[in-house]
Amino acid sequence: MGFEGHAQVRARISAEMAAQMKTLEEYAVLAGQSHGHMCPGQILGIRMAMLGLKSIGIDDPVKARKRLLTFVEIDRCATDAISLVTGCRLGKRSLKFLDYGKVAATFVNLETGRAVRVVARDDARAKAKAMFPAISDASQAQLEAYKVMETADLFDLQAVRVKLKPEDLPGRPHSRVTCAQCGEGVNDGRERRLGDRILCRSCAGEKYYEPVTSDE
Ligand SMILES: [Zn+2]
Ligand SMILES: [Zn+2]
Repeated sequence: MGFEGHAQVRARISAEMAAQMKTLEEYAVLAGQSHGHMCPGQILGIRMAMLGLKSIGIDDPVKARKRLLTFVEIDRCATDAISLVTGCRLGKRSLKFLDYGKVAATFVNLETGRAVRVVARDDARAKAKAMFPAISDASQAQLEAYKVMETADLFDLQAVRVKLKPEDLPGRPHSRVTCAQCGEGVNDGRERRLGDRILCRSCAGEKYYEPVTSDE
């Protein structure tokens, strides 16, 4: 290995810094860009993820990418920020969306099995409004309050255990079968068995769409 030049030292240092958890302010800039607007949900999501990660012993979400899994319980603003901070993504199977309609998320350290569920407290909204009475816009008041509110006022946190199946984890698909009715391929055990037939969930009666007929 040769002598490290100034440019190399700078590149190494910035890479090391990038690999650490950022500050709330730094994440807020990035969240505003990737989410498309700044909103209370971004601050809530950022803080929720930072708290969750720290609680499972992860200081460096970039380095811990492969041993981190996040479950989100709502498809609203906060989820984008949670994905940004954790680096967990739907397409990597490291982000799991459960449609429970709650501003809550569970963070799992795959290496240690440690997991915590963090939920935004319902009374945080009212508390936030009371903190900045001079700000007439409720959403703006909430945004500013969420930046500075005590963690315990904002969130409830509990240690949990999450049973993970191999077929739910990142990596190559564990299985692939063909639906006996529609002929479409189904990955990772998401098929249904009806008698001796292997069916996709749609053909097994769980279809969320209806085909449009030509006279409609
Ligand atoms: Zn938003
Ligand atoms: Zn099918």
